[in-house]
Amino acid sequence: MGAYTVTPIFKGGWLIWEKAEEVCMYLVCGNKRAAMIDAGMGTGNLLSEVSALTDLPVLPLLTHGHPDHYLGVMSCPFVYLNEKDHALMRHYIELDAREAGTEAPPVPEIRPLQAQFDLGGLTLRTVSLRGHTQGSTGFLLEEEKVLFSGDGLIYNVWMQMEESTSLEEYRTTLKNLQIFRPCFERIWTGHGTGALDAGHLDRVTKLLDAVIEAPFGVPTPPDQPPGIIADGEACQITYRLDNIETETQKKEASYEY
Ligand SMILES: [Zn+2]
Repeated sequence: MGAYTVTPIFKGGWLIWEKAEEVCMYLVCGNKRAAMIDAGMGTGNLLSEVSALTDLPVLPLLTHGHPDHYLGVMSCPFVYLNEKDHALMRHYIELDAREAGTEAPPVPEIRPLQAQFDLGGLTLRTVSLRGHTQGSTGFLLEEEKVLFSGDGLIYNVWMQMEESTSLEEYRTTLKNLQIFRPCFERIWTGHGTGALDAGHLDRVTKLLDAVIEAPFGVPTPPDQPPGIIADGEACQITYRLDNIETETQKKEASYEY
């Protein structure tokens, strides 16, 4: 078996699943151009996989600045990423190079996201999923009633990262996302093996409310960034106690690298 498994998910749309980290990437083809949503770990030749599916020019769109979502497009001349995650992506590129004892590789030009991407007959609308990272973003494809959510809304939302927002700020993000709730029925996430239903938004919000009200859960296993895993109905949130705000202790949600 190669690095990737390719599965059609609607007309002109494919899930490209990478065995490493069970990363999910998505190719969406309009009639003028295509979008590659996330790029995975780069354990295979993603771009040749994509060129076997389409001849259209491909826009690489990133849901956020974590390495398991961008490494497959490092040879592209440019990528699109929410500006709030640009410094994060550069930070991880330099960190990887330092750890490997090499020079940082040539980096694609990192362009800010547009409000929407017109693919010709299909339009991807950019929506904020700020929480997991400051710049986490989803792409809404109304024509297919699909939200591509990266790690921003997923089975287990990792909110324990240094670059994550407070749980309260994430709750605001999910509340704002309710405006778009009529526009999607399925959520294709950044890891896993299948789509979630739109009700996942409500289940995560409910769990978030419960955790903010009275924190609970079990410690993460040793191979994961330290945090507390709270179980809800068919969903989980992993968090740190210090990313819950209190009435007296509001913190600034900005991180410098
Ligand atoms: Zn991530």
